Amino acid sequence: MVVPVVENLTRRVGRFMHDDDLRVELQSLLKGGLETKIEPRAWDQAKVDFILSRLREIDAGDYENKLVEAGFTLYPWGEGDDAQSCETCMYYVVHRRFCELPELMMPVEADWSCTLWRI
Ligand code: SF4
Repeated sequence: MVVPVVENLTRRVGRFMHDDDLRVELQSLLKGGLETKIEPRAWDQAKVDFILSRLREIDAGDYENKLVEAGFTLYPWGEGDDAQSCETCMYYVVHRRFCELPELMMPVEADWSCTLWRI
């Protein structure tokens, strides 16, 4: 018999291991030269809605196309006080290094960025 607390912990550890593996895979895709749509930025609601609608057409597990459509970079976009990074985005979950934007839901790094950055 599996004690529920242990079962929950095991599930949580499994999730984080999956996040780590997936984050490495995503990083390797981007380092390998995957071209993503980093311009134009989603400055207005119409552009945000457009990108979100494209993301909703992508299968939840198709992370490569999510990277492309959301315009991911391995570095903050912009400079100085205007720099946009996952770390300063309202969708970033610090303790999990994870993007909780419903259309993305994927592990990221604090210094990555995408066109949907929001404060
Ligand atoms: S929405 Fe925010 S946290 Fe998610 S990938 Fe884009 S910049 Fe990072």
